[in-house]
Formats: sequence, structure tokens, C-alpha cells
Amino acid sequence: MIDIITDNAEILRSLEKLSYQGPLSRTLKCAKCECEALIMMIIDDEDGEISQQRPDNVRIWPHDAMVIALYMCPECGEITVDWNQA
Ligand SMILES: [Zn+2]
Repeated sequence: MIDIITDNAEILRSLEKLSYQGPLSRTLKCAKCECEALIMMIIDDEDGEISQQRPDNVRIWPHDAMVIALYMCPECGEITVDWNQA
């Protein structure tokens, strides 16, 4: 199952709960302008449905379960992504 979390209170509860290799951050440096981007969505791929789509010829790809966090920059609108695998 893939769980998409967009409710702010649930996102805050999930920062620690959905951390496989370390806690997700509430903010992340924007990839475009280096302002602080704010977390806006967490995708929990607990059954590996996304990671099972792995192509054969890639070097880096998550395996098993993973979490994807999307952050939006309040200054420029850029989306920055972080991910964490089990
Ligand atoms: Zn930005």
C-alpha cells in the first residue's frame, strides 16, 4: 500500500514515525534558491510498490520500503525531495 499524507498534523506526527534511517526534517534547503522549503507531503511506500519499479540499469534506487518527502519553497515555489529507505 502507498499512503499519501498531506494533513499537516499527520505530517508532523510522521516525521519520526516514518524515519527508516533517520528522522525526516520539517524543512529542507530549497534546491533552487537555498531558502528553507517547508514539508508539504509524505509518500509512504511501506510495501515497496514504488521501489519494485526499479529499472535494471540504474546504480542508485531504493529497495524494500521507503518514504518520500516533498518540500515546497515559499520563496520560489520549487519542489525539493528527500527520501529514506528501510
Ligand atoms: Zn526556493
